[in-house]
This record gives sequence, C-alpha cells and structure tokens, in this order.
Amino acid sequence: IGEPVKERNISLNAIGKRLREKYNAEIISTYGITELATSFCECVLSKGGHIHPELIYVEIIDDDGNPVPDGVEGEVVATTFNVEGMPLIRFKTGDISFIIDDGICGCGLKSKRLGPVTGRKKQKLKIKGTSVYPQTIVNVLDQLEYVDNYVLIATSDTTLSDRIEVRCSLKKGVADKSSEIKAKLKGSLKVTPEVIIDSFTNIDLIQSSVTKRKKTKFVDRR
Ligand SMILES: [Zn+2]
Repeated sequence: IGEPVKERNISLNAIGKRLREKYNAEIISTYGITELATSFCECVLSKGGHIHPELIYVEIIDDDGNPVPDGVEGEVVATTFNVEGMPLIRFKTGDISFIIDDGICGCGLKSKRLGPVTGRKKQKLKIKGTSVYPQTIVNVLDQLEYVDNYVLIATSDTTLSDRIEVRCSLKKGVADKSSEIKAKLKGSLKVTPEVIIDSFTNIDLIQSSVTKRKKTKFVDRR
C-alpha cells in the first residue's frame, strides 16, 4: 500500500510485475487520499484511474499554480463535491501525475483518467535544469536484477541545481556495473546521476539514518 505499481506509460513497474507473478493475478492500480474521500481506481482495462466527475474536480497545475494541458505532468489538485464537514477546495495533494483524455474508455466510462503518480512535489530535484523525481530512478533500479539494495541521496550542488547520488550494492559475484546502471538511468532521466557501488550494510545504515521507524530509499540532504 502506498507504493506505485506503474510506470509513466501506465505499464506495470518492477513491483507491479512481481506482484502479478507472485499472485498470478492481474494488477489494478488505485490512488486515493483520505481527505478527498474518493479514490481513482482503474477499471479492468488498467489504463489509468477513472475520475468520477460527480464526486471530484481534478486539476493538474504547474509550479506557478497554472493548469497544464492534459498529458502534461504537474501537481494533482482536487475539489470535492460530496464531502460534508470538511469540504476541500483546490486541495494540493503534493503528488505529481497527469490527466489522460483519449475519449471513451473500453469499459464505457467517458470521464478522464488520472495517470500513475510519478513523484512527490517536495521530492522534485532540479538537476542541471532538468526535473527529476526519485520515483523514476526507483523504477529503473527495481528492474535491475543484479542490484540488491540501493539508496538515493539528494544534496544541493549550487543554489540553482541539486545533485543526486545513487548508491547501489550488487548481488554476490556480480562485477562492477556502475557504467551500465548510469546508462540505464540516463535513458529514463535525460541526465546522468552519480552512481557509487557500496556494500549492502552501508546502504542499509544510510536507509535507517533518517528515521528509526521506517527505512527510506530517498534521503534528502538539501
Ligand atoms: Zn475504463
């Protein structure tokens, strides 16, 4: 719960694929926020979460608060219609996604759909002018079978740019794969992060350094 199971292109990510294999079942993604009292669940066609216009109005906005066209990523902002007690007007979720509007869905619903959550707004990194979300890096690393542990560390490079360090440990007997990992990441991010091969134990320590309660794969030191 709380983990994305889809890539930007709505196909299953590594976690989604693993769940499908393990349970031998089709994986349907859903997204919801308690305050909104609504969820955006996919139909059996699994092509993005259906928005229910009678319950909620969804906008996607850029950094300046302006709505962006369908298909463009931005922060999900929602206004509830049927919530009593604490109705919300243009509630900023902090989640990054995009609207899919390709006409009537095969299931018969005409409403627009919400794409997978591709990142958290506060985790957004600006690396040499390019926006990067840690989730994109996670999606790449989860697909690499030889990587057995990893942590992403964000720091400020200059006042205008962030730096991301990808620390990975590799499975026993695997030779240094840092250049291959870099190439795979560059393919998805358009920028090349620093990749360092480290031990499983060291990475484990960094993951536990932020909070004792839960290990984290993204450490923000900006
Ligand atoms: Zn549908």
